[in-house]
Amino acid sequence: MNDCIFCQIVKGEIPASKIYEDEKILVFLDVNPSTNGHMLVIPKEHYQDLFNLDEEIITHSVKVIKEKLYPLIKSKLNCDGLTICQNNGYGQEVKHFHIHLIPRYNDDGFVNSYNKDILLPNDQVYSTLIEK
Ligand code: 5GP
Ligand code: ZN
Repeated sequence: MNDCIFCQIVKGEIPASKIYEDEKILVFLDVNPSTNGHMLVIPKEHYQDLFNLDEEIITHSVKVIKEKLYPLIKSKLNCDGLTICQNNGYGQEVKHFHIHLIPRYNDDGFVNSYNKDILLPNDQVYSTLIEK
């Protein structure tokens, strides 16, 4: 896709701090990091989100995260853990599938905050989910 910023990064048309690359995926630092070393794993091919993704990308990405990226982050940045998240639709700023790797550090202050005031009781949500 011509107007996709991540496709432009794949093509080298705009710069990115590349960390890892192979025939299927590209990994680069997030331009607006939540913690030191926050990076994005993207397929080189354009997929909008999880729901039209070739599942092999997930399997391959997990292998690269386990074998290469986490060992790199751990050894070089001395993180204490890793939070992985991935947005689809609402909350997704860039419509090219990407996995956030957010290295975690003791006392990093990273929080996901949600509006608890609009929550339904869990038993109501459960009934809705399982009703036929
Ligand atoms: P989303 O909200 O779609 O899950 O996350 C998109 C992420 O892409 C954001 O964390 C944002 O900082 C990052 N981002 C957006 N544009 C660029 C860019 O041009 N280069 C890089 N490296 N990251 C970007
Ligand atoms: Zn794209």
